[in-house]
Amino acid sequence: MSFRLAQRLQGLPQPATIAMSAKARALKAQGVDVISLALGEPDFPSPPEAVEAAYQAGLRGDTKYPPVGGQPALKAAVAKKFLDENGLHYAPEEILIGNGGKQLIYNAFAATIDPGDEVIVPAPYWVSYPIIAQMMGGVPVSVICHEEDRFRLKAEALRDAITPRTRWLVLNFPNNPSGAILERDDLEAIADVLRDAPHVLVMADEIYEHLTFDGKTHASLACVAPDLKDRILTINGMAKAYAMTGWRVGFCGGPAPLIKAMTSIQSNATSGICTLAQAGAVAALATPAAGRDAMRDVYQARRDLVVARLRSMPHVTCAMPEGAFYAFPGIAGALGRKSAAGRVIVDDVAFAEALLEEAHVSVVPGSAFGQTGHIRLSVAASDALLIEACTRLERFLLTLA
Ligand code: PLP
Repeated sequence: MSFRLAQRLQGLPQPATIAMSAKARALKAQGVDVISLALGEPDFPSPPEAVEAAYQAGLRGDTKYPPVGGQPALKAAVAKKFLDENGLHYAPEEILIGNGGKQLIYNAFAATIDPGDEVIVPAPYWVSYPIIAQMMGGVPVSVICHEEDRFRLKAEALRDAITPRTRWLVLNFPNNPSGAILERDDLEAIADVLRDAPHVLVMADEIYEHLTFDGKTHASLACVAPDLKDRILTINGMAKAYAMTGWRVGFCGGPAPLIKAMTSIQSNATSGICTLAQAGAVAALATPAAGRDAMRDVYQARRDLVVARLRSMPHVTCAMPEGAFYAFPGIAGALGRKSAAGRVIVDDVAFAEALLEEAHVSVVPGSAFGQTGHIRLSVAASDALLIEACTRLERFLLTLA
């Protein structure tokens, strides 16, 4: 029997990040020693302060339905974080807590996108933006950020992509998957373009803000261009900076009418966020920055290790990621070649599949992020695993004929 699903699901791509990890899991189940560098998940434990606070909240009986938009204590902690770390003042009615940053993206698009509205997504992009936009009837418009521009969004490219139907610009820097960051002058140039396009909302997804390397720091668009703040949604969360992916706590600041509409969607979807997780998030946000910085330093050292290895391999180029915890090497030099098992590497998907099947390393093809000819590998893994993965990758590349 064929099961009828809603039309809006038709033609939606399966996120390749999930597809690749399913394949890797299947191989592992057969006893194959697969190294998975496909998922973007910190390999550190969550702060013990968060675990303790969640436990205490449970013992206290903080187990009833929460206020839909977030516990007052967490909203206050988020307001303080935005002010102290981003120079942004958000009142409680301008803040929303969500089930991870992802639900906030979903809420925002659900609240604002009408069929045919365009969403500019600089590529390479995190897989979920275009998929969620499409689910709402929107049309993702990809703007390529080139490797020679260090994968930064150029203001001229943005200007060319804006049309009267543009509803959103998604600005995710530090970027997943490229690790690119935007500096103040990049943001100022982008703000100038946005001043000429008052119908465009901006989703500044800053979830990797604390993961910037080599002493570089992150700047928030809403702080660099305060005159645009009433059409910027600044999204962030606990997952990456605090190694709290499973807690599912994200937060955002934005114009009150948008936050109100997003809250109403959340009310009907989830009734709010797990009270214990919110208590944990309050405690984590109060921990000293040194904990985050220590994790960042480890990611930076791993980035150095992996990029040095990648740059010494045949058929590979690799821009230096300036943030986040991924490398996004180009593998164009491998295309058209044949693997030891006779697979023709026609594109990055074939490359990732052959690498998994023959060298047992799981990565994500760049086309999943809107940019072919690349693969993404996560450096959120131990040095030993990264070294072994690089050795396998190199061996695989050396056998390509
Ligand atoms: N934004 C980006 C760029 C991400 O890479 C991710 C997770 O991978 C998210 C948002 C979602 O994070 P969360 O776990 O808070 O939903």
